[in-house]
Amino acid sequence: MDYETLRKVMVEEQLISRGIKDKRVLDAMGKVPRHIFVEEALRSRAYGDYPLPIGEKQTISQPYMVALMTEALGLRGNENVLEIGTGSGYQSAVLAELCDRVYSVERIKSLAIKAREHLDSLKYMNVAIKIFDGTYGWIEYAPYDAVIVTAGAPEIPQSLIDQLAIGGRMVIPVGDEFSQVLVKVEKNRDGIKTTNICGCVFVKLVGNYGWKE
Ligand code: SAH
Repeated sequence: MDYETLRKVMVEEQLISRGIKDKRVLDAMGKVPRHIFVEEALRSRAYGDYPLPIGEKQTISQPYMVALMTEALGLRGNENVLEIGTGSGYQSAVLAELCDRVYSVERIKSLAIKAREHLDSLKYMNVAIKIFDGTYGWIEYAPYDAVIVTAGAPEIPQSLIDQLAIGGRMVIPVGDEFSQVLVKVEKNRDGIKTTNICGCVFVKLVGNYGWKE
């Protein structure tokens, strides 16, 4: 399998053609070996235009969704980023290419362990993973210049707004299992401003300030 070619085609046909413009995001997604983050049996489909199962009833997001969310964070290279929902670790690797430090929280231990192994094998040393309920955020390293939530929340957890820096951006899918909206949150001195980006479908954010299991 020529994964590099598959990645190039993915960037052109799924990302550029649908309006992703940030060169750094396109370069990062052209570089990170997505196939490493899925099971061997699914590797030939890793660059397809869809999400894929990663075990524990969870999924790795469709490449376009990863690009859209990442672009909305407007990363320039020096940011401290919080990710909720490590899953496979693929989104974490894309972020690691684009900012200074990534703090990623995952509630399912087996997924966190696998993600850590894959990130280590690719030498992504600027990603820290914690096994915890991410609806609490990760207070020790706050404030964050950017926050990305990769599971659907009933509402935006206040702890994540609190841990966002003034001038920071957050992207989070909000809504129930069947209908969610990808929301961008910008925080300034006066409070927050929210903008709807598009409809989307994510697995549920399960936790104290999320959905009950
Ligand atoms: N970013 C991931 C997508 C993972 S799917 C990737 O690139 O593969 C969403 C993940 O969020 C799942 O792994 C799920 O277990 C996790 N999750 C759901 N609720 C959570 C919570 N409260 N805290 C941390 N992780 C959570």
